[in-house]
Formats: sequence, C-alpha cells, structure tokens
Amino acid sequence: MGIAIYPGSFDPVTLGHLDIIKRAAAQFDRVIVCVMINSHKQGLFRPEERVELIKRVVGRLDNVEVDASGELLSEYAKKKGASCVVKGLRAMSDFEEEFQMATINRKLNPKLDTVFLTACQDFTYLSSSIVKEMARYNVKLEGFVSPLIEEDVNKKMKEYLRTEGEKAKH
Ligand code: ADP
Repeated sequence: MGIAIYPGSFDPVTLGHLDIIKRAAAQFDRVIVCVMINSHKQGLFRPEERVELIKRVVGRLDNVEVDASGELLSEYAKKKGASCVVKGLRAMSDFEEEFQMATINRKLNPKLDTVFLTACQDFTYLSSSIVKEMARYNVKLEGFVSPLIEEDVNKKMKEYLRTEGEKAKH
C-alpha cells in the first residue's frame, strides 16, 4: 500500500503512538515516523532525542524508519514519495483539527491522502502531555510509555524541574 508518513510531536513517544506505528506498519510497505519540528513550540525533549527514543521503542520493525523535519508536511511527503499520512484519532475532539489538516494537506499536495486509525481502547486517554504531567508528579509511567524509555523520561523531567527551579531563584 505504498509509503506512509506518521507525523507528530512525539514529546515523548507513548504506547498509544507505538500502537499506531505497529498497525500502520502492518498496512503499508513503508512507514516513516517523522518528528515535526515546530520552532514555536518548545518541547521537553530535543527533536533528535525524540527520534532516538522512537527508534528504541520501534526496535526491529524493519519497514519503519524514524526521521525529523522542519518542513511543511505536504512538501516532506512529496520528497519522500509518500502517498499517505497516518493519524491516530482518540476522540471526536481530535477530529475537527485533524479533518482541517487533512484537507489542507490534500489541497497543497493533491496526491496526498490521510488515513485515520482509531486509538486502541486502552490508550484513548493517553497523550504526551499526560505522560509529562505524570512524570512531573513522580507517578510510575508503566502503561503509558515503553519500559525501554521510562527512565529517560523521568530523568529528563527531573533535569527540567531542576533548571526551572534554578531560573525561579534568579
Ligand atoms: P500528543 O502530544 O497529543 O500525544 P502528537 O502530536 O505526538 O500528540 O501525536 C501524533 C499523532 O498521534 C496524532 O495523529 C495523534 O492523534 C496520535 N496519537 C497521539 N496519542 C495517541 C493515542 N494514545 N492513541 C492513538 N493515537 C494517538
């Protein structure tokens, strides 16, 4: 079924993202998971760190690659020869924005379609923001992110809180 792009912030990658990656990999010949770099939105992890975490959790899915890009999605897809964008839908609240994005992307690149995969029931509540909120309050991240990256998320959050604390003192 050709090449698909799965774009997002992945700050950090969650079990909900991983579920979508695996399901997309079962449907498409190749899936490119792309960390979209948004200069207006500063994340917890740097884009290259997010790529590294995704690579680790994806492991040996041999038709999945991980990349980062600051380009417009429609341009990036054209460059990669992708015919499809994959998006996960958690609830109706995701739908409105995603519908708008899909329409714009098709307008910019008429060969680019968007396919929506509905979130697995266990992960409908899950987002990277929830993971960060949990890490901030030291809640165990089991069931939210892969055990392979749990320690990295906790460590990064501690560093972030420490630097925030330092800043507040000055
Ligand atoms: P978030 O910060 O909300 O996790 P991202 O920009 O990283 O969002 O999400 C990238 C894509 O993954 C979006 O299409 C989003 O709808 C989808 N997604 C995010 N979390 C989940 C989940 N728990 N289950 C299914 N899809 C998800």
